[in-house]
Amino acid sequence: MPAAAALSPEILAKYEPVIGLEVHVQLLTATKIFCGCANKFGSEPNSNVCPVCLGLPGSLPVLNQKAVEFATTASLAINCTVNPRSIFARKNYFYPDLPKGYQISQYDKPIAEHGWIDVPTADGSIKKIGITRLHMEEDAGKSLHDGFPDSAKRTYLDLNRCGTPLCEIVSDPDIRTPDEAFEYLTRLKEILLYTGVSDCNMEEGSLRCDANVSVRLKGAERFGTKAEVKNVNSFRFVREALEYEIERQIEVIESGGRVLQESRLWNANEGRTYSMRSKEQAHDYRYFPEPDLPPLILSPEFLEHRRAELPELPEARRARMIAEYDLNEKDARTLTASRAFADRFESAAKTAKNPRRVANLLLSEIGGRLNALGLEQENSPVSMAGIVFAADLLDEGKISSKQIKGLLDVAFEKGEDFSAVYEREKPQQISDSGAIEAMIDKVIAESPKQVEQYRAGKKTMAAFFVGQVMKASKGQANPALVNELLTKKLEG
Ligand code: ADP
Ligand code: ZN
Ligand code: MG
Repeated sequence: MPAAAALSPEILAKYEPVIGLEVHVQLLTATKIFCGCANKFGSEPNSNVCPVCLGLPGSLPVLNQKAVEFATTASLAINCTVNPRSIFARKNYFYPDLPKGYQISQYDKPIAEHGWIDVPTADGSIKKIGITRLHMEEDAGKSLHDGFPDSAKRTYLDLNRCGTPLCEIVSDPDIRTPDEAFEYLTRLKEILLYTGVSDCNMEEGSLRCDANVSVRLKGAERFGTKAEVKNVNSFRFVREALEYEIERQIEVIESGGRVLQESRLWNANEGRTYSMRSKEQAHDYRYFPEPDLPPLILSPEFLEHRRAELPELPEARRARMIAEYDLNEKDARTLTASRAFADRFESAAKTAKNPRRVANLLLSEIGGRLNALGLEQENSPVSMAGIVFAADLLDEGKISSKQIKGLLDVAFEKGEDFSAVYEREKPQQISDSGAIEAMIDKVIAESPKQVEQYRAGKKTMAAFFVGQVMKASKGQANPALVNELLTKKLEG
């Protein structure tokens, strides 16, 4: 197999990749899709099983209402049309981790079709990537190939995963570069996380991706023959697998060969794909309507209710927060990185005198210190309440921003919340009215012109006097007291 890197940029530039992604997400229901077994990752092998999910004769599936709600929510969040009537189908194949001998899935009548998501591209524009369909199905069990003393001879089965509810989300072949594929997946995951239908944890397999890719000469009308790369378990690997696969296919064509329609496996260690099975060996699943389940009928009321329950989605939330907190795109992205974080920020900011100041402190002072320490927001010693507290102190003029910085340094150094540090190290504040009066008298004596303006009705001059007194006190005078005494003196 020649090294793919041997291709010149000129040759690569003759071709256009075409990519379509199939994403499986496990739904966060308490129980499985057709039985009452717990839907839980990491349990003792074969402990969450029953006659239904083991496919024992005589058992019958009952559709989990929650799974339908989640699938509908996911469908609406990616702009799909939800079909009021969809059909479950049997997908037949033999594999040890599939005890029933078939998977209940949806085939020609899926729950949802014709959606899209907006994906930012390299040139800064937004591209709509079409979603062909979203369908519901059940997961299979797991073969355990490693970790047993006799793993060299035997494969073990854990059937806990059998019957875990899945949504499969199939994109149109609209994606043109590995980077676009990466962005698409990032956006899709973000949307799904916001809706709360899945934890999208790739390490635990709750989000899995198959990448379909072909190449064609630029300007060609017809798509080339695609290969499907399976077993890609991180977005970065999807990008790498696609980069590899695109060059491999171009090389095949350039050397006079034909790309075969086949499934290939990504080997992350070697950074390449391997042929798994060709079209000739492809399964014939012999789909037929599932006789044990009636058509899935969704009422207009059900759909309306799901739509009403949709949370504000990441893109919309960012746009709103940019306006509300006066943020730039990058800062908005940081604050909306997860729905939980955005929620925590917003519910705290709401209680502050000036919510924008909370955003500012969080992004600059807190963000900077977390970055320097390589810490995540959830491990910050300074809580949201602490940030609100600091923002309010600033707002009330009880503390200078320089003092805030000093106190935050201490908080991060000692791993304490801001309020604790403030209470202990309360920066010097002069609250002795005699001392403040003396300063005021001095300022008034030195500013006859301003006093005249003030007394002539220009009340905004008050700010000038406050500033002068604060300056004279090196920022330590209690601003509330300064205000009160100043007014008395100036009016008196
Ligand atoms: P199959 O019948 O092999 O399952 P589908 O038509 O269902 O193929 O498409 C599966 C995925 O492959 C979809 O995401 C689709 O967008 C993508 N796809 C289809 N044809 C091509 C192609 N020629 N090149 C790249 N991707 C493709
Ligand atoms: Zn079960
Ligand atoms: Mg298909």
